[in-house]
Amino acid sequence: MGKRSELQISGGNFHGPYRATFRGPAAGFVLSDSQARRYWDTLCGLSGCTCGGGYGDGPDPDSANAITSADEVPANCPPDLARALAAAEREYHASNARREFPILLLPSR
Ligand SMILES: [Zn+2]
Repeated sequence: MGKRSELQISGGNFHGPYRATFRGPAAGFVLSDSQARRYWDTLCGLSGCTCGGGYGDGPDPDSANAITSADEVPANCPPDLARALAAAEREYHASNARREFPILLLPSR
């Protein structure tokens, strides 16, 4: 386990400005189920809303980078983190979506 840190996401979307802090290894980490729930609640806590947390200005330049698909992992991502996200996605699909959709949080570049 490397140095622990706090990664902050911030930006503006359909619902206005958002900001949240997540604690984990400084190099980046896959959010726990409860962290992932908090992530989605931060972007859009409204049941029935179809915005998906998007629209608006998007993330701030210094925001941590939230990767929500193994297909979108950046080239400079540490391979162990890319594998952790792929494993979390397999777990998610095996659970019949009874968990939160997995998110990999990487430090801002
Ligand atoms: Zn919404």
